[in-house]
Amino acid sequence: MDHFSLIRTIEINPTELCNLQCSFCPRAHGYPNQNLHMSIDTAKEIIKQIENCNFKGRVTFAGRGEPTLTKNFDKIVQLFLECANIKRVNITTNGKRLHLLEKFLEPYGNKFKVNYDVYTTDEKQQRLILEKYKNYENVHVTIKPDVGLNYNEYATSKTSEKNPNVKSKYGTGNIEGMTNRAGFLGESLYDFTDKSCRKLTHMIYINWNGDYNLCCDDWTPLVLGNIYKENISEFLNYNETITYYRKKLVCENSREGLPACQNCNRNAPLNKEVRVDVENLIKMDELTL
Ligand code: SF4
Repeated sequence: MDHFSLIRTIEINPTELCNLQCSFCPRAHGYPNQNLHMSIDTAKEIIKQIENCNFKGRVTFAGRGEPTLTKNFDKIVQLFLECANIKRVNITTNGKRLHLLEKFLEPYGNKFKVNYDVYTTDEKQQRLILEKYKNYENVHVTIKPDVGLNYNEYATSKTSEKNPNVKSKYGTGNIEGMTNRAGFLGESLYDFTDKSCRKLTHMIYINWNGDYNLCCDDWTPLVLGNIYKENISEFLNYNETITYYRKKLVCENSREGLPACQNCNRNAPLNKEVRVDVENLIKMDELTL
């Protein structure tokens, strides 16, 4: 076992462009909107590494922009769908250009999953969207009201009770509701005793240009490396910054002094067995230094 084998999801931010500015998003609080996109070559490099490292998990396109605005996005998605190693390709979208991806819904079935977050307040529009996708098991529609920066409200609103056709209510954030995006949206309001974080053990976050970032909550964003300098497996097993973060979070149960984590209110503790595995791996890393 190594750190790479614990990874379940590769999350990709394919673009820095968005067409909305929701009040609960860092984009409404100073985060810039930029016309930057993942190239087909970078997508192919990630796939090559997935195959070489024999990664057998999920790939999720979400991140800080609206994925469907990515240039050549359907071509990029097709490349990932064709990769036999990948169990599932997830897209989280506000639906802006979902029509370009509809051709994948039937042929790829459960290998392709769309999380469609509907932000419009127009109820007629909401009904049309729900009706359009009601027979697709791989399209998960969520009506998401723009409730501002009140994490508690967000966690406890009951949209699904208002509209029984909604397939689910909330899937974003931590158990308290939306996260504070590692401090970008304001001070952490919560205190919790277990400071470990499974984001760093179960997921890896790759930016449009191949940079490794910390996680989806960090909107700074910190750059920990790049796929063209360290492949995915090398990054997870040997990158000094991620090793330092892991040790502090898991072995010391502390976020103190860690940029982004120290201000983050995501409560995502590791389960006991994984914690023991990670602690043992960290001890082994130290012995082999
Ligand atoms: S503590 Fe927060 S910022 Fe740090 S890795 Fe976890 S989710 Fe990301």
